[in-house]
Amino acid sequence: MTDLSEHSLATLAAELSAGGLRPSHSGPLLRSYYRMDAGSGSNDRRFPAELERLLRESIERRLASLAARHVASDGTAKFLIRMSDGRTVESVLMPGHRTDRAAGCLSSQVGCAMGCDFCATAKAGFERNLTSGEIVDQFLTLRREARAGGRRLQTVVFMGMGEPMLNLGNVRLAIERMASNDMGGLGCGRITVSTVGIVPGIEELAASGLNVNLAVSLHAPDDRTRARLLPTGRRFGVVEILGAADRYQAATGRPVSIQYCLLKGVNDSVEQADDLARLLKGRRMHVNLLRYNPIGPGLSGEVYEAVSGAAADCFLSRLRDNGVVAHLRQSRGPDIDAACGQLRQRA
Ligand code: SF4
Repeated sequence: MTDLSEHSLATLAAELSAGGLRPSHSGPLLRSYYRMDAGSGSNDRRFPAELERLLRESIERRLASLAARHVASDGTAKFLIRMSDGRTVESVLMPGHRTDRAAGCLSSQVGCAMGCDFCATAKAGFERNLTSGEIVDQFLTLRREARAGGRRLQTVVFMGMGEPMLNLGNVRLAIERMASNDMGGLGCGRITVSTVGIVPGIEELAASGLNVNLAVSLHAPDDRTRARLLPTGRRFGVVEILGAADRYQAATGRPVSIQYCLLKGVNDSVEQADDLARLLKGRRMHVNLLRYNPIGPGLSGEVYEAVSGAAADCFLSRLRDNGVVAHLRQSRGPDIDAACGQLRQRA
């Protein structure tokens, strides 16, 4: 039988039924699986022997197992996670402001086809989509690691390897399980999906009714600079992407966040800050400015550099002076290759 992390209530009920077992075992079995994985003791329910075995095997035999763990001086932990076919992805656990909380970063694909020029994952190319169960197993791994460190996994973001909108079917299934009270227990409001601006994916996510948070990686206020950094910039323009983000916000009531990675001499000028502020005028979106973790030459061969602290502060002030809600996110775990794709590159 298929591993329990691959199942929703409906698919498990169908599989049980096809195997001559009672489909009504589906809910209690999944509840037991997630509760036992969360360390809530032993199973207090009795199932037929075949299902007891499935429960035990699903807990012992992971779809995703920990291949490497690197912990930075700031407490950020980066994991290399190996899937059952030997392929690896990266996940990150970041300590929260509260000492008992943590935030997790999940991958949605093995590698990535998007080819963003400043990203280490892009250099390795795309291998395959993760299944919904593999995504759920990453989440469960992060939850166990957080618990082992005395923290609760409070939020997750799809900002690891891959473009979630290009594997949206499996990402949606995984979100449903991570969010469900009977399974992961996280709730949709604690889950963020990040995209480089795949407009049809934004529309589909809005229509799904999942009501998760959306983050858009803009990285430039104009199509020309954007096309240099992100190949999607040639397919979807800034105005079109922000229009889709507006509709997402209207459909879900959730403010969209704009991710903007500052690159020295590329997208960090005062004029670009003003252009970004003009674009966001009248929109209830907030900007997260990111410090770049250098990766050496990008796909095009260009070597990007991080901006200085003073330049980042200047860009931030300019946005704020123009009425934009913006924050500068500290770069996490630079001493452990925390930029997406770096750890896997070196493994
Ligand atoms: S930044 Fe994200 S979307 Fe772009 S290549 Fe890297 S993993 Fe893919």
